[in-house]
Amino acid sequence: MPSKAVPRTVGDFILYYYAKLVIAPSAGETGNYRFIMDRYKRLKSGEIQISSYDREIEKLAQQPGVCVFCGKQGKTVLTEVVPRKLGGPVGIHNLVHACQRCADSKGDKNLLDWWCNILGRDIEDLPRIPAGLFLKLAYEKHCVGFGLRRRCEDICHIWHGDQGS
Ligand SMILES: [Zn+2]
Ligand SMILES: [Zn+2]
Repeated sequence: MPSKAVPRTVGDFILYYYAKLVIAPSAGETGNYRFIMDRYKRLKSGEIQISSYDREIEKLAQQPGVCVFCGKQGKTVLTEVVPRKLGGPVGIHNLVHACQRCADSKGDKNLLDWWCNILGRDIEDLPRIPAGLFLKLAYEKHCVGFGLRRRCEDICHIWHGDQGS
């Protein structure tokens, strides 16, 4: 969970986790709170945008042969990050390559519910590619639906806001 310096809203949670995710690959910055907060504030002020990073993540997401969830190499199938029935869009921005086992396990569940509540894993361990695509889709959805200011106490609720489930 982010510190209290990050307001408990859907929009702030998305930007905070996005900030965390985009600094992850740069050596020395990983997990550094000061860097994360700096990136988060710049995303929030509009100085930098999610779109400055998403091309790289989308490119990585289109590589077959490695499961984005478990890292297993071999045959992969295309799987929706946000299933159609939860409002996920059609297209490559919503598709990742996963091994059959992970694809079957995730099915049409909400990504974060599946990862945290069904697999029992930590949100911090959700790999960059699915996390990045998911956060961007959530941000776009809430931009259109005016949901960014909705209260949110739990990162697992950022798709639908706290009232959602
Ligand atoms: Zn897998
Ligand atoms: Zn929920």
